[in-house]
Amino acid sequence: VKVEEKLFQNRYLVDAGRPHITVRPHDTPSRALRSLVHACPAGCYAENEKGQVEITADGCMECGTCRVVTAKTGEIEWNYPRGGFGVLYKFG
Ligand code: SF4
Repeated sequence: VKVEEKLFQNRYLVDAGRPHITVRPHDTPSRALRSLVHACPAGCYAENEKGQVEITADGCMECGTCRVVTAKTGEIEWNYPRGGFGVLYKFG
């Protein structure tokens, strides 16, 4: 089985209105924050027309990459989803 086929088995339960990761308001994102647009494996980060980085936490795999990458800049607030919400892994 290919890894994409395994990932397709995962399900995600959205906690509407209570995202578990938020990007703090900023004018110019650091290089670290901007790198997440490409580094997040779930594609949760995007740059808006003002050059600021936004997150849509739906589909987040809780891999922790964004938490580690911005640990020094403090640009994001990262929590695990509430119990019962977030990614539901079938494998691993
Ligand atoms: Fe993306 Fe991983 Fe951060 Fe979730 S924890 S938003 S999957 S980088």
